[in-house]
Amino acid sequence: MARSDELFERARAVIPGGVNSPVRAFGAVGGDPIFVARGDGGWIEDADGRRYVDFVQSWGAVLFGHARAEIVRAAADAAARGTSFGAPMEAEVRLAEEIVDAVPSVEMVRLTSSGTEAAMSAVRLARAFTRRPGVVKFAGCYHGHADGLLARAGSGVATFGLPSTPGVTEAAARDTIVVPYNELAAVGEIFEAVGDQIACIIVEPVAANMGVIPPEAGFLEGLRDIALEHDALLIFDEVITGFRVGRSGAQGLYDVTPDLTVLGKVMGGGFPCAAFGGRAELMDRVAPAGDVYQAGTLSGNPVAVAAGLAALQLVRDEDPYPGLEKSATSLVEGIADALGSSGIAHTINRVESLFSLFFTDQPVRNFDEARRADHDAYAGFFHALLEGGIYLPPSGYEAWFLSAAHGDAEIERTVEVVKNAAPTLA
Ligand code: PMP
Repeated sequence: MARSDELFERARAVIPGGVNSPVRAFGAVGGDPIFVARGDGGWIEDADGRRYVDFVQSWGAVLFGHARAEIVRAAADAAARGTSFGAPMEAEVRLAEEIVDAVPSVEMVRLTSSGTEAAMSAVRLARAFTRRPGVVKFAGCYHGHADGLLARAGSGVATFGLPSTPGVTEAAARDTIVVPYNELAAVGEIFEAVGDQIACIIVEPVAANMGVIPPEAGFLEGLRDIALEHDALLIFDEVITGFRVGRSGAQGLYDVTPDLTVLGKVMGGGFPCAAFGGRAELMDRVAPAGDVYQAGTLSGNPVAVAAGLAALQLVRDEDPYPGLEKSATSLVEGIADALGSSGIAHTINRVESLFSLFFTDQPVRNFDEARRADHDAYAGFFHALLEGGIYLPPSGYEAWFLSAAHGDAEIERTVEVVKNAAPTLA
């Protein structure tokens, strides 16, 4: 019996579904998950000693690949000085300053341990500031698993086809209004009808939890205008896009300024560290400066903050974005050629280095169109690549993540495996 299978069996006895986050269980693609033993750069090695080119990269948290020396060293040095104090430290100030410097709309920032907490707290602040209850979100966008934000969420929720989830009360879901992504007119109609009840619009400026779906021209600008017109706040959830589509995130790329921004993943260097931030006028409402309660024992944890600072220093020193874009372009072109020559219908959506593959000949602009893609075909593709030593996200509703450590060798190898597999998938 393979070591991964043995571990999965033991895991299922003591951990629900054998995993600590649903998508890891391979439910969407079938089969049993591999257990990871270690990683380096663009690669992971499983518990049976097999190596894979890794396109999950901790779901985008490790922009510089696994075990990047500068980040490991910074975390180890910080841990040696004490792993948690629950008291303020200089490094937190430096990380906050770095984020304020990089992200155009952010003047002040509060650190949290997860993107879920950060998004939940940003919505709480928006409700407090506007004194309104309503939240407009988009079908297929995921903002973590706070009750009110799970309505028609993407990612794991999309994978499992649940409209929402048991355990979320009607009261918690009632104030969430769900609208199709990229449909500005639908947002306008909601605001015409009940705009005076809406605290905020929360959006992934590039949707990346229903596969990758770019915002159509004018969509983000339109949301900005509608929110302003109705005195509601616009929240960009940049947990994925932040420090990935560029140092200034999607707001820099598209030049649209949200009121509040949610960050996570890259800014923590692969450790539990996330943030929400925005204009000082808004953030000054957060306790203890203001009256909106928000807290965390491990918020601003010194090990996570040191790793985050090291990652953001690498962003400054190495400007990884042109390289990431180049790798993504050649990978996407290689895959498209290989699938095209075998007559396999597909659509690849890409923004900078963020992309995903849908098995459909139709454009994919929203959640319904993402659902209409052939997800069984994705499962077959996933397993063919896994067999060839390429580890893809185990769901067609997830983005593929490149790191700065994916070089020509990893890209060429991946394209080769797709070329070999394509005829068997047609
Ligand atoms: N927002 C977005 C856009 C995300 O992609 C995620 C997680 N993938 C979250 C929020 C939640 O972050 P976390 O998993 O750190 O709670």
